[in-house]
Formats: sequence, C-alpha cells, structure tokens
Amino acid sequence: MTKSEAIFERACKVIPGGVNSPVRAFGSIGGIPQMIRRADGTKMEDEDGNVYLDFVGSWGPMILGHNHPAVREAVIKACEDGLSFGAATQREVEIAELICGSIPNVDMVRMVNSGTEAVMSAIRAARGYTGRDKIVKFMGCYHGHSDALLVQAGSGVMTAGIPDSAGVPKGCTKDTLQAVYNDADSVAQLFEQFPGEIAAVIVEPVGANMGVVPPKPGFLEALRSLCTKHGAVLIFDEVITGFRLGFTGAQGYFGVDADLVTYGKIIGAGMPVGAYGGRRKIMEWVAPVGPVYQAGTLSGNPVAMAAGLAQLTILKEHPEIYTKLNEMGDWFYGEIKEILKETEFRAQAVSCGSLGCIFFTDVPVCDYATAKMSDTSMYASYFRYMLSRGVYLAPAQFEAMFLSAAHMRSELEGVLELMRGFFAM
Ligand SMILES: *Cc1c(COP(=O)(O)O)cnc(C)c1O
Repeated sequence: MTKSEAIFERACKVIPGGVNSPVRAFGSIGGIPQMIRRADGTKMEDEDGNVYLDFVGSWGPMILGHNHPAVREAVIKACEDGLSFGAATQREVEIAELICGSIPNVDMVRMVNSGTEAVMSAIRAARGYTGRDKIVKFMGCYHGHSDALLVQAGSGVMTAGIPDSAGVPKGCTKDTLQAVYNDADSVAQLFEQFPGEIAAVIVEPVGANMGVVPPKPGFLEALRSLCTKHGAVLIFDEVITGFRLGFTGAQGYFGVDADLVTYGKIIGAGMPVGAYGGRRKIMEWVAPVGPVYQAGTLSGNPVAMAAGLAQLTILKEHPEIYTKLNEMGDWFYGEIKEILKETEFRAQAVSCGSLGCIFFTDVPVCDYATAKMSDTSMYASYFRYMLSRGVYLAPAQFEAMFLSAAHMRSELEGVLELMRGFFAM
C-alpha cells in the first residue's frame, strides 16, 4: 500500500469521501487521489515522493506558479503581526485601491472568503439595488455552491451525475431562471417572459466549469445591451477569468462592461479569498452604508490580504506576464490541435488565453448540451495515461487546464510528446 492509499483510507473514515471538495476524490476518473505534500513552481510532490508537472494550479490561484517566494515572504511577514484582528486594517485599503484603481467599472469592492460567498453576496446586492427577485444563470456555468445557484451547475456536480443538489429547497431556486450559454436569444426570451422581474444576469465570461467554452463573438455584448435595456445588473463571475485573461480580466479582454464583478482564486494567491465589486451606485447598497446585509468574521484578514496583495502587485507591475501566458496558451493548444488532426483522434482542443481543455467529441462545443457529449470514459483513460507519466491534469473532464507563468516551453513540449503518444494509440 502506498502512503497516499493509507492516508486516503484514514480520510474516508472521518471526512465524507475522504476529501473536503468532491472533485478531489477522483470519482469520475477512477482510482484514489494522490496525497500532496508540497509544491513549488510547476511541480507537486505527493506523500510517496512522486513528482508531477501540475496543470491544476490549485484550480487557478497559482498563476505565478506554486509557492512563489514573494507571496510566501509576504505571508510569513504578515503572520508575525498576528493572524486576524476582526478590525479594519490598512492592507485592506491597499488591495481595494489596487483593484478599484485598475479594473473598469469597479468603484468599490468588498472582500469575502470564497468565490461562493462573493457570488452569493453580489446577487444579494443586485436584488437589493433593483428591488427584483429573479436572476438568470446559464446552464453549465458554476457560481459556487450557494442554494440559489446549484442548478445545472457544471463541473463538480456534472461529473458526479447530480443535476441538482439534494438539500436545496425548491423555494431557493424558484427565482433562478436558466438560459443557454452562447445564446443571447434565450436570455431575451426570459426578459420578455418576466418583464420587470429580473434583477441580474450572471455569467462566466469564459465558461470554465463545463470544460472551457469561450463566448462567441457578440454574446457578452448582447448580454450587456439586454441588461441595460431591461434595467438588470450584469454580473461577470470572474472567479476564474479575473486577473488571468489579463489584469482587468474578461471585461478588459473582451471590452465589455459589467455592473458587478466577482473574484476568487487568483485574488487570494492560494489563501481563502473572494471579492465582489462594481459600480458605486450598486455597492452603496451594501451594509453598513446601505440596507443589503453582508458580513464576515475573517473577511479581509491580514494574512490572506498579504498573499493577495503580493500576487496582484506582481501581476499589475508586470503586464508582460499576460502577454507571455496568452501567447503560450495559443501556441500550446495550437500544437494540441495539430496533434489531434495528425492522429485523426475524435477530440477537440478548446482554449482562451491560458485556459483550455480537450473535449472527447467531434461535435463543436459551444454550450452545456454540446459539452456533455464528451466521452468522459475516454477522458479518464487520457487522465490516467498522463498521470502515470508524471503529468497532473484536472481529475475530471469538465474542468479547465491551467497554465501558469512558471510553465516553461520545454516542459510543455514534453507534455505534447506524451499527448502524441496517447492520441496515436
Ligand atoms: C471556483 C468558482 C466559484 C466558487 O469559488 P469557491 O472559492 O470555490 O467558493 C465561483 N465561480 C466560478 C466561476 C468558479 O470557478
């Protein structure tokens, strides 16, 4: 028995499924998870001493690579002054100034502890501001695990075969309307069907929780004009795309303005951080200025803020990181497309900047229905092939592959050779 196996056996007795987040259990690809001991740069090491080239990057936060020295030093230094005060600090102001000073349409920002909390709170603010109850989400988009949003929620629940979670009362989702990704008409129809009732449209500007599904040209623009026309709030859930497609996220990358933006993942550099922000007239509805209540004992705690501030400062000061990352993504996925073509394998590579994935279907993927056509058992074989050769991919089809600034071309060339081996089989 390996050390990972022994630890996982213990884990399963005291933690549901042995994990603190379902995708980590490797349920959809078979086998048991590696217990990770440490990580540096692009490499992760498990308890048995196996080293992997990592493409999960803690699901996105590690855009500079694991254990970045500047982030680590900032955290250690912050710890010396105490872990939490439950009181206002200067560092919270610094990170808020950095964000509001750079991100279009974000005049004010509130820190929370996860992406889930960020989205839940942004929706509450949008409902308070508009005085309306209904929200529109897209099938296959994931916005965290709060009750109202656990409807056709992509990735985790998708591979677990749970269309809608148990334990969510019908009343909690009755105001959640569902639209089709990349189909603005489906949203227009909802606005017609529920005039004056829709508070917000929430979207992942690049779908990254049903595999990677980029927006078709004009889709985000159409959402913008529909929301403007009907007085609804457009929320970009930038928990994955924020500070990844560029420092200004999807708003900057696609040139489309949102009213509210939610963050998570990169913003905390690996610490539990989320944030929501947007136009002043909406954010001033949030307590204690306004009547929309939202709070957090550990929100904005000094250690998490130090980590986030260190990472965001590097990203802000080095825009060339994004040029390089996006070029690397274009090159890498371009090469994968070539390999798939040469080997005539029934699969397609899809990417947007440093986000990408391979769908095991030849039907062009543009939404939830087409993403679901992917052959997940083929993904499982592909995953196991790569893992046994030292490449750690997302242990589920409907997740993105994350490139970081630490990935070197030589490492990616090695991965392409391995992929060629699998696809030529
Ligand atoms: C990960 C994710 C969330 C939830 O963030 P947590 O920190 O896991 O709560 C919300 N929205 C999107 C788009 C995400 O990818």
